[in-house]
Amino acid sequence: MSGFSYIAGSLHAEQVSLTAIAEAVGTPTYVYSGDTIRATYRDFAEAFADRDALICYAVKANSNLAVLGLLAREGAGADAVSIGEVKRAVAAGVSPQKIVFAGVAKSATEIEEALTIGILQFNVESLPELERISAIAAARGLVADVAIRINPDVDAGTHAKITTGKKGNKFGIDLDQAKSVYAHAATLPGIRAAAVAMHIGSQITTVAPFEAALTRLVALAQELIADGHPITRIDCGGGVGIPYHGEAPIDIGAYAEMVKRVTAGFPGTLMFEPGRYLVGNAGVLLSRIEYVKQGSDRRFYILDAGMNDLIRPAMYEAWHEIISVRETAETPAPVDIVGPICESSCIFAKDRPMPPLVDGDLLAILSAGAYSAAMASSYNTRALPAEILVEGDQFAVIKPRRSLDDLFSDESPAPAFVTSGV
Ligand SMILES: *Cc1c(COP(=O)(O)O)cnc(C)c1O
Repeated sequence: MSGFSYIAGSLHAEQVSLTAIAEAVGTPTYVYSGDTIRATYRDFAEAFADRDALICYAVKANSNLAVLGLLAREGAGADAVSIGEVKRAVAAGVSPQKIVFAGVAKSATEIEEALTIGILQFNVESLPELERISAIAAARGLVADVAIRINPDVDAGTHAKITTGKKGNKFGIDLDQAKSVYAHAATLPGIRAAAVAMHIGSQITTVAPFEAALTRLVALAQELIADGHPITRIDCGGGVGIPYHGEAPIDIGAYAEMVKRVTAGFPGTLMFEPGRYLVGNAGVLLSRIEYVKQGSDRRFYILDAGMNDLIRPAMYEAWHEIISVRETAETPAPVDIVGPICESSCIFAKDRPMPPLVDGDLLAILSAGAYSAAMASSYNTRALPAEILVEGDQFAVIKPRRSLDDLFSDESPAPAFVTSGV
């Protein structure tokens, strides 16, 4: 289910016309379907209803408080990769005891604050991090639950910039070092090795890499339990992909069947960290054509949205479906769909068959619910895109467009200098 369809010749998010949204809040604007996020979450949760499972939504995919709040009300936990994300999750109503904190570079301050908040678990990515968490927790008389994020050395078969579980990646601890790191953890104060974890990459579209990695992780968990480690949770990570270009999506039933089969001998809690899967297809970037430009050998649709609003095509060579908001049956012809930023990578699609459109027409860039608004920047001194959440026939502005003055009101052409003191 996508939540976006044509009603009376015009693209709608649920029952709200995207044209009406563009008129009310301008463009470029992200529009999310609340119903789609909820339904996708429920599908995922129901697939594990017969196991003790905790679904920790990966906040970085889309960290808007309204999206987090919606998922928190469904019972989701959160997977955070910075203390800022931990705080967002708490602000949105996620119970601290459902929050895991991952990330390779947790600072001492971040660890202290997460301990104060009382999160469920730290997913540890290196030996010095383990020792730092131990020292900080022990000094405060606390015991922090930790998982070691294991790098299972499998190829997730995804884009090089989003594969994380292959030997040589900066993430996690190599499988062949895992037992000695757990043995070391058992000697440290202030921590309890309560879990094993993995996250092998993103936009994974087949079950096989998950199965290869999880099989290794479960075997490790069983050896650790036999050695007396208090492992009560297996964190399967995120990474389940979505269709961007008509790919067959991962069948969540098949994924769940595999996970339950591979973990059948493990009585504890299963954890998951889906991000993209829950929100990716629930959002579009709504943009207006500023100009239709006819070059000598190609035609351009020049949008008011740029790579600062949606960086995925420039950064990951990502393919996004782009459709006209005004339904038209006219014959498509190839065009380049580009944005305003002064970079040749500010291009959303090349030679894309599109119907003939004119200045002022609206386009929807689909599958823009994940890693889209969250990655937006103000490059070229452009305001961040607005964000809208739709529920049925209503919509809410969940991120207003800020004024351009806001972008540089904290800067000065003649700054006040202070002596460094060194
Ligand atoms: C990014 C990330 C996720 C979510 O990945 P998706 O592909 O969006 O599901 C989960 N866990 C960790 C540790 C991550 O860094």
